Amino acid sequence: MDNNETKGTGNNPDQSTQPNQPNQKPNGKKRFNLMWVYAILAIVLIGLNFLGRDSVTPQEEIDQGKLIEMLKRGEVGKIELVNREDAEVYLNQKGLMVYFPEVNANSDGFTSTPNYIYKIGSLDRFEEMVENAQLEVTDPVYITNVRRNNWMSDILGWIIPLVLIIVFYIILMRGMGRNMGGGAGSIFNIGKSRAQLYDKNTSVNVTFKDVAGLEEAKVEIMEVVDFLKNPEKYTKLGGKIPKGVLLVGPPGTGKTLLAKSVAGEANVPFFSLSGSDFVEMFVGVGASRVRDLFNNAKAKSPCIIFIDEIDAIGRARGKSAITGGNDERESTLNQLLTEMDGFGTNSGVIVLAATNRADILDKALLRAGRFDRQIYVELPDIVGRKEIFEVHMRGLKLGNDVDKDFLAKQTPGFSGADIANVCNEAALMAARKGKEEIDKQDFLDAVDRIIGGLEKKNKIITPEEKKVIAFHEAGHATTSWLLQYAHPLVKVTIVPRGNSLGAAWYLPEERQITTKEQMYHEMIATLGGRAAEQVVFGQISTGALSDLEKVTKQAFAMVTYYGLDEEIGNISYYDSTGQQDYSLTKPYSEKTAETIDKEVSALIEKAYKEAIAILTDHREGLSQLANKLIEEEVIFSEDLERIFGKRPWGNSEDEKLKNAALKKSEEQSTEETKA
Ligand code: ADP
Ligand code: ZN
Repeated sequence: MDNNETKGTGNNPDQSTQPNQPNQKPNGKKRFNLMWVYAILAIVLIGLNFLGRDSVTPQEEIDQGKLIEMLKRGEVGKIELVNREDAEVYLNQKGLMVYFPEVNANSDGFTSTPNYIYKIGSLDRFEEMVENAQLEVTDPVYITNVRRNNWMSDILGWIIPLVLIIVFYIILMRGMGRNMGGGAGSIFNIGKSRAQLYDKNTSVNVTFKDVAGLEEAKVEIMEVVDFLKNPEKYTKLGGKIPKGVLLVGPPGTGKTLLAKSVAGEANVPFFSLSGSDFVEMFVGVGASRVRDLFNNAKAKSPCIIFIDEIDAIGRARGKSAITGGNDERESTLNQLLTEMDGFGTNSGVIVLAATNRADILDKALLRAGRFDRQIYVELPDIVGRKEIFEVHMRGLKLGNDVDKDFLAKQTPGFSGADIANVCNEAALMAARKGKEEIDKQDFLDAVDRIIGGLEKKNKIITPEEKKVIAFHEAGHATTSWLLQYAHPLVKVTIVPRGNSLGAAWYLPEERQITTKEQMYHEMIATLGGRAAEQVVFGQISTGALSDLEKVTKQAFAMVTYYGLDEEIGNISYYDSTGQQDYSLTKPYSEKTAETIDKEVSALIEKAYKEAIAILTDHREGLSQLANKLIEEEVIFSEDLERIFGKRPWGNSEDEKLKNAALKKSEEQSTEETKA
């Protein structure tokens, strides 16, 4: 029933805008060229048409009776049988005198064009008819056969399909060019890079001010800015300027933002593209795009190339050799490696790349001379979250009760993008309710919504079910409150959201290492839900599926990865390289496998018994909590404090916030004394 994970909602704002694209020819020019092709084709066709018409001028047709009469009277000079279809009848002097008295014959006694056309049905019958008609004529005409090529129909016969094919091809290619995004145009531009260029005209107006937290990352990246601004300072001493900087971190933590801010700070051109922009269905396109990108960049140096999601091309090579078909990606990667080796260290092009999967990147990319620097961009801690809230609240109209410390506490595990999203959601919610300003409740609703999805107001839950859910969640809350190392609870709800029926939020302490004790306490708290059902109702339900899954995974990790089990000992079967495929072969024997199973289930059983013991001891408090939950649907840590008393172990998060505030005021006072 628990769902306290948050999902990153990293959006890439850099891809939505379309500033000038360096490689795009103006669209009009291309149209123009095509129009010429069309025009020439049309002219040729029309010309042929006229030519053809010239050779076959339609003449007056005559019928059989009239022809026989003319033959009998000896008025016909010659009959030409054209293509065995039409008979062209030329009159002799006598005939011309009778039918065309005003027309003069040429020197050979005939007109240049036939005087009549006779359409032949059957050839044999026609010959017979001509012979019979002239039986009494002294000087009979004979039929001469003429082959005449009909250019028109012949040429049209092959030109029309050809033209159709060409037109079809052009349309197809243009459509494809358009689909490939960015309006990069026709097939001829396919090998050009898709990078968007931000320079003085389309300046990036993101600076370090817009990036909250990430202090260490900023310091490191500040150095990159410095490299670009005064390279001599470093090269003077013989040092080499790094070529590539890799930003590694979960989605939505501000990697893109950081890269953009570098461009904004350094005031140099900034090429931005995503790793997947290199990928195309045609072989060789990726490599050609890489080449083009670097050529463009070198022409604009000093500048920054930013490749987002570099894992799309930078994945380790040769792993899936069986499937084949990855050659294209490999050659793209090879080209990238070559280019990065190729440009001199002083050429003033620095490649920034972002990924959230540094582990799957090809080792060759990470070696010195390529992406030799790696900057880890992590999920913000409570102080970082507060600062991110500050950045994103700048433009908002806030109510007086909005407390950034409180909001930072309510959003454990949120990324920068999530927080940006919370601020936006809150503003939208306030607007929907017609408020003048955004208040605390809007922010809390936005947080809930982002964690759990939309409220399912009309999900039908019977009162009995509701009671079970309330006790289940109260069980989690109670156990975690009473165990020293479990994460302190932030809030519990039994409002169904998304596909969860209820949820408990904890404040994960930002620990660097976790002790066995801490992991064990977390397991107890996770099992607290089911244990409460057992203690109160004497029966358990299916509602604990995700709890059980989580606890099983954790127990497994404790035994097989972290070496926290006595029976198995200090052995870890974890494989950080990801090279081994354990789904086929296990790195341990059958006997060890049995031991692992035994230890895992013993660990979980022990934790479950402990949860039952705690809840039996605090049965009264558990019931109070559950009843309050049924009444109000949401409870906060204050309610727990009222029932069970303050946790004697303090709260590390509060301390962190206090420390940060102290540090800040110290900085301010030193600045004041300086001034
Ligand atoms: P990534 O590239 O790491 O996936 P982005 O840089 O695209 O994440 O971040 C997405 C959005 O989240 C940014 O546009 C910004 O609004 C917000 N954001 C993320 N981290 C921060 C931060 N440290 N400070 C301010 N805003 C942030
Ligand atoms: Zn649960």
